[in-house]
This record gives sequence, structure tokens and C-alpha cells, in this order.
Amino acid sequence: MSVKQEDVLKDENLITYIEEIAKDTALLHGVLMRTKETPNSPEVVSYAPFTLFPTPVPTALFHQALAVQTHFNRLVDRVSQNPAFLEETLASTIKVDNFTARLFNIYKQVQQEHRPQSIVLGLNRSDYMLDHSPYGGTSLKQIEINTIAANFGGLASRTPDVHRHILKVANLPEESNNVLDNNPAAGLARGLAKAWELYGSERAVVMFLVEDNELWKRNIPVIRRQLEDVCRTGSLDESRRLFVDGREIAIVYFRNGYMPQNYTSDKARLMMERSLAVKCPDISTHLSGTKKVQQELARRGVLERFFPDEPETVAQIRATFAGLYTLDMGEGDKTVAVALANPDQYVLKSQKEGGGNNIYDSEICEVLENLKNSTERMAYILMDKIQPVPVQNYLLRPGATLKLNSCLSELGVFGAYVRKGKDMVFNECVGHLLRTKRVAVLDNPLLV
Ligand code: ADP
Ligand code: MG
Repeated sequence: MSVKQEDVLKDENLITYIEEIAKDTALLHGVLMRTKETPNSPEVVSYAPFTLFPTPVPTALFHQALAVQTHFNRLVDRVSQNPAFLEETLASTIKVDNFTARLFNIYKQVQQEHRPQSIVLGLNRSDYMLDHSPYGGTSLKQIEINTIAANFGGLASRTPDVHRHILKVANLPEESNNVLDNNPAAGLARGLAKAWELYGSERAVVMFLVEDNELWKRNIPVIRRQLEDVCRTGSLDESRRLFVDGREIAIVYFRNGYMPQNYTSDKARLMMERSLAVKCPDISTHLSGTKKVQQELARRGVLERFFPDEPETVAQIRATFAGLYTLDMGEGDKTVAVALANPDQYVLKSQKEGGGNNIYDSEICEVLENLKNSTERMAYILMDKIQPVPVQNYLLRPGATLKLNSCLSELGVFGAYVRKGKDMVFNECVGHLLRTKRVAVLDNPLLV
């Protein structure tokens, strides 16, 4: 951060002035969210939480993250198409993790029918943090890849204008040139549109499985339903076309379905998986995004199996991996020992998705002391803790007073791909998302 920027951060009068303008600008540009108090009211909205200033991100690392995305798209797709790998990798996990076991069970049932939909649509987001080595140097490290319900693609396109305006008001006009345009939702929709065309029926609709109120728009018919609706009214015809409420479904987009509490039963998911509808993600791609798969991919020699003739692709992907370690019985004994010895160096992760499930510091010891002799520990993996340098910023949140905070940022990169049979017909990196926390809020990279 430049001296000039640091001066701005400390100028209380200027900050108060900018705060007001920032909120107005967010409203003007549609950085909006329904409120906690009235989540179902279309009458009341507020600005979505965001940082007052964009966060400096080194240009080279930013471009590294964008450049590796089409490789990650292909990796996820190849993993999803490798039943032996998925089975072997998840064998220990599904013995003790009930939700992964349920998903795997659906996967096996669909596998046995040998009639997969030949059109695959993948919309994912690979998340990174910038690891600061104690010996100097900063590197891009992947936190995880989200293969289901990777969101915020819409709001991310609206925040660059807000930050550029704020920088101008703060008398930092040059910096405002270093906030890039970004429109992941458009790219995700292009992928979706491609898959819809390939499905080949103009009447068939895209069904968003949601419990909240996000929506993407295109000239493609869209309906929003809940898993419950599919349970009640879903059916397959003799050629396995999926119908819900009498509408033929070309694409099922899962906006939820990554948590056990999203499902009252597995019936609807199984029906959709067995159907000709394009699933985003299909069950094998969903499983390919588990933390257990991530850990196995980081094992020596595994990426090479997926890209046997592409050492550069392997190197590019591998460069983003942090250390990941199995907790399987036997091999994982070592992992338990290192985690107990240095808990502050690691993150303990179960297969749960959706935030707030990771285990840190002394709690790692509590959990592992409890589980170390039990197969229950196989539901977890261990990961090196990535250590970014905190950055000072103000976080704007409705109802909260503004104060200078020490913040950590996470860079997400959106990928979209469509495969038909053996041909990748669409494979793109479609945008990015910077989120900054104490509690995660929207942000933008300020390339430096
Ligand atoms: P989830 O599926 O819940 O999103 P993540 O793997 O993304 O799980 O972890 C949630 C959050 O925990 C991340 O957004 C990041 O802030 C933090 N986190 C995860 N892994 C690490 C890590 N290896 N080092 C440091 N922080 C991490
Ligand atoms: Mg995450």
C-alpha cells in the first residue's frame, strides 16, 4: 500500500465523508442484498457488505490464478470421469462420513446404469489465499475448489465501479485504473447457454434449485424450485427426460444441495442424476470437489496420472497446492502426530461445505486426542495453514459502525466448461471474486 493510501486510511474526516458516498454508490450500482430482518421481502434491501477500499494483490499472482483456471476445469472434469480414482479416494471417507456416503451411493447407482448424460456443465470457483513465507516471498495457494453452488458471480461484476469511484473521491485516481472490470456471471451464463443449446429443446427450461433469491437472466426459460418441489412433482419419461411441474428440464443448477440439511431424502437427487437433464454439477463432479479428493490430488504422482503428457499443466496446478495430509488409519498416524505437535501450523477439515466448519489451534488437539484411535478421524483431512499478511481496511456492513480492521482476503476464480461426449466444447476462466474478512465481505483486487 502506498504512503498516500495509508494517509487516506488514517484521515478520519475523509473516511467519514467517503463512507457516505461509498454506501450511496453501492446502492446506485446494485450492490444489494435483502436484509436479515426481512429476508423474504422484495420491498426492503440494503447494500451488500463490502470493503471501503480494494485490496492490493500482486499482478503476477492474480494472473497466475486466472491462467491456471482452465487447467483446473479440465482436472475436475477428468477426476469426475475416473470411477476407479473416486472409489479408491473416497473409500475411507464414506465409511465414516454419512453425507459423503449418501452422495457416493447415488453416484454408484447412476454408474451401474451406464447411461450418463453426454453433456456435462461445470461451473466452479477455485479459492486462493496469498501465503507469506517466513523467509520472504508470497505465493498463491489454493484453499479449495467449489464444484457446487459457487456463488457471488453476480455481485462481483458490480463492485469494481464502486471501488473505482471511491478511489477517485479519495484522490487516488491512478489507483482506480488498477481495479479491473469483472463479470463472472456473464461467463457462467455463457457456459450455461452452451449446455442448454446442446440439450437441444427450446421448450426445456433451466431449473435453479434454490432456497434464496438469486437469479441469472438470459433468453433462456428459467424456473426456480426447491428440492422438495422435485420430490413432489418430478418425474422421468420413458426416454429419461426430467419433468418438474409439467416443464421439461434441460439443466438443473444446484444453488444448494451441498449440505445434508438441504435434503429430506435422496429421492429427488437420484431422479435428477438418472435423468437426461444436464446437472450442474452432476454427482461425480460434486464428489470431485470434496476435500478428500483435494487431499489425494496433492499426493505425489497423482496429477501426473490425470495429465500424463502435460508436465507444464501439472507444474502449474501443483504450484498452487498447499500441503495436504491423509488421516486414514495407518498412513495417517504420522499426520496425527505432526498436527498434535504443531496445531497452529495446520487446519483440520471435515468434508462439510458452506463455511464455519474448519478446526484450528488447540481445538485440533481436542478433536484429534478424541479421535486418534478411531476410524472417525478418516472423515477429516489436514492442511497446511496458509499465512497471508493482514491488510488494514474498513468493512462496510449495514448497521455496523466503521472501524479500521486487520483483514485477510481470499481470491476466487470462476471457471466454466462444457463437455459433450469426449469433446471439451467450452473451457474458460470467466472472472474473479475477492472477499475480505473478518466476516467475509465483497472486495476487489487493486493490482500492484
Ligand atoms: P468451506 O467448504 O467451508 O468453504 P474452506 O476450505 O473454503 O471450506 O474453508 C473455509 C475458510 O477457512 C476459508 O474461506 C479460509 O478463510 C479458511 N481456510 C481454509 N483453509 C485454510 C488454510 N489451509 N489456511 C488458512 N485458512 C484456511
Ligand atoms: Mg470455501
